[in-house]
Amino acid sequence: MYNNIILLGSTGSIGRQTLDVCKMHGINVVALSANSRTRILEEQIKEFHPKYICITDMDAATAFEGKAAAYGCVLYKGKEGLVKLATLDTDAVVLNAIVGIAGLEATLNSIKSGKDVALANKESLVTGGKLVTDAVKKYGVKLLPVDSEHSAIFQCLQDKDSAKSLKKIILTASGGPFYGYTKEQLETVTKAQALKHPNWSMGAKITIDSATLMNKGLELIEAVWLFGLKAEDIKIVVHRQSIVHSAVQFADNSVIAQMGVPDMRIPIQYALTYPDRLESPAEELDFWNMSALTFGEADTDTFLCLKAATEAINKGGLYPCAVNGANERAVELFLKDKIKFTDIGRAVYKTVSAFDLPSDYTVEDVYKTDKMAREFVDSYFADEA
Ligand code: NAD
Ligand code: MG
Repeated sequence: MYNNIILLGSTGSIGRQTLDVCKMHGINVVALSANSRTRILEEQIKEFHPKYICITDMDAATAFEGKAAAYGCVLYKGKEGLVKLATLDTDAVVLNAIVGIAGLEATLNSIKSGKDVALANKESLVTGGKLVTDAVKKYGVKLLPVDSEHSAIFQCLQDKDSAKSLKKIILTASGGPFYGYTKEQLETVTKAQALKHPNWSMGAKITIDSATLMNKGLELIEAVWLFGLKAEDIKIVVHRQSIVHSAVQFADNSVIAQMGVPDMRIPIQYALTYPDRLESPAEELDFWNMSALTFGEADTDTFLCLKAATEAINKGGLYPCAVNGANERAVELFLKDKIKFTDIGRAVYKTVSAFDLPSDYTVEDVYKTDKMAREFVDSYFADEA
């Protein structure tokens, strides 16, 4: 179990649930980062007394200077401040709960400073999977999955001998609020409907990603990097109840699954207490009152984001980074009411074949590709208008 934590993205859904776990187990909160929501950050400072904080939005950071001093916190600002926070010279795990590619630099730098990283920020692996996994090897640190599916797979692979005979991964997907919808039905769905996830309460971006199935596409890519299987050996299975969080299949076709209530504090805690299991703030699974567990296939013809992500990981190199950048931009436009729900999938899918991208890359190439993909989405909608 880790006794000290640097928590990046503490004001978000994962950040706040991580603090529940820290509170329950007395994990010392060394540092917290937020983008702009300083009101929530202030409440967290009062309760957890971090020595260091970072606010990435420069205006919000400047406005908070007086308060930071009054609370006795060292305040770092902006993107550079975030790297300083992630690389503090202290013995702590970094839990990265930032949303989007904005989390990549912190992940890479935490690893380079020799820290284990508990990763909720799946976009780090999607955009820079090779860079992140190479750094993990080079600096000999642990990369602990926080995403519920990847935590489930990780938990199922704890028997090191059987892990050698891993044959397939069964990556479960809730299917989101629009499961079973036809292309025509999807054309008219609203933002409010898309923001209403049936089983999980999450930040806005991942909630939209769950509705488009981009989230499962990102998780497929995340699983390829974490567990070293080819995308074709990772089967996406729609499981509406979100009780089976994922499963592994071995050489003998025996399948082991991990189950639990849909509560992110279970995987968050497992990353922080690994390999120990402690009491959890989450509820028990109630087998007696559970409805049937169902399993089915995902509709990649309708949900183009999943198709795009699958094609991108098969093409390899920077293609996953490109579809991620396109998706981040398209979701931003959708949340600002500039485009329709189905436009997200259309634009993201177009991105897969829009560029010729190399298989090997540096971190600079990642940011260049991300920018190109965002600009591609903007011009795609400008041409349509
Ligand atoms: P959220 O939107 O609720 O929170 C995001 C956090 O990131 C906030 O603290 C915000 O201040 C910070 N942030 C936003 N933009 C930033 C920037 N440019 N620079 C630095 N910090 C920035 O998101 P969330 O739902 O907590 O998700 C966080 C990450 O965890 C995402 O990658 C998501 O895919 C992943 N994840 C979330 C869940 C969930 O249940 N919420 C489950 C699995 C994985
Ligand atoms: Mg997940």
